[in-house]
Amino acid sequence: MNNYSPKLLWLNKSGLGCLLNLLLIGILLVSVGLGWVVNGFLILLGIIVVTPVIGLWILRWWVKRNLVEDQCPVCGYEFTGFNNIESRCPSCGETLEIKEGKFKRITPPGIVDVEVVDVSVQQFDNPD
Ligand SMILES: [Zn+2]
Repeated sequence: MNNYSPKLLWLNKSGLGCLLNLLLIGILLVSVGLGWVVNGFLILLGIIVVTPVIGLWILRWWVKRNLVEDQCPVCGYEFTGFNNIESRCPSCGETLEIKEGKFKRITPPGIVDVEVVDVSVQQFDNPD
């Protein structure tokens, strides 16, 4: 009978006793029926850890899907913009539309643009 006493003392000294107590409390909680408290806590902890990771992953996926890197069709300057959002070229100031992962001029290169340039040049030529 007395042989068990030194063993328990050794457990307490090494700190294993504390761990054993926690384990016993855990087993007791589960056996008593409070297992759901422990499970709930673990699930909550899991949600706290997992939610920002998933959120960040979704955000990255969205950004990757909507971020478009292309060259300006007017001056060839390469920059990034968001899909389906109008953006302005930081180099030449041309308003661009981003569609299907490509930058497109909202004003198509053609007669209208050239006519505007011609009118302003003519106005400057005739000061009177
Ligand atoms: Zn440009």
